[in-house]
Amino acid sequence: MNKITAEPWKVGIAAEEALKAIRQRSFADRHPELGKMINCPVCDLRHRESIKCEQKFAKDSEGEDFTSIPSLNPLKAHKAILGAAAFAKKRKNPHLSKRNQQFVALVRKLVPEEFTEEELKDARELAKEILGWNEKKTWGLWNKEAAAAKKERKANARKRRAARNTAASANAETAVSPATHD
Ligand SMILES: [Zn+2]
Repeated sequence: MNKITAEPWKVGIAAEEALKAIRQRSFADRHPELGKMINCPVCDLRHRESIKCEQKFAKDSEGEDFTSIPSLNPLKAHKAILGAAAFAKKRKNPHLSKRNQQFVALVRKLVPEEFTEEELKDARELAKEILGWNEKKTWGLWNKEAAAAKKERKANARKRRAARNTAASANAETAVSPATHD
């Protein structure tokens, strides 16, 4: 026959200590099946110990592993290839410009509640037409003669600029050369 022999005050202390230990457990201690958080050296992310990552290696043309070149973490590969700066402080889903907001609003009006890929494509084309995006850009010059004249003016200006630059560099050379021979 079992008989509790401990004094009641000792039982009280033991219970208190057990409760204290239970309450002070960390999240990982309370959920041992999840395991601790680790900085995984394989996938380079922070996750639970219970997730086992296998190291994968890049393969050569014969399908053999390059054991020295681990394949890139797909979540970070874009940064490794293009550089982190290309993605720093950039929105994943950039806000639309006023022009594109107008386009999207118009396309939504043009498609029915439920629409197919084809209907969406057609609506986009129609919206482009309505907004005049399909017209050839004239930069405000509807008059062909005026456009041709502007083009010529620009070409002439370019030629004059080039002539000035060659003259300037020739002058610079003649100015420098006597000094260097002194
Ligand atoms: Zn991992």
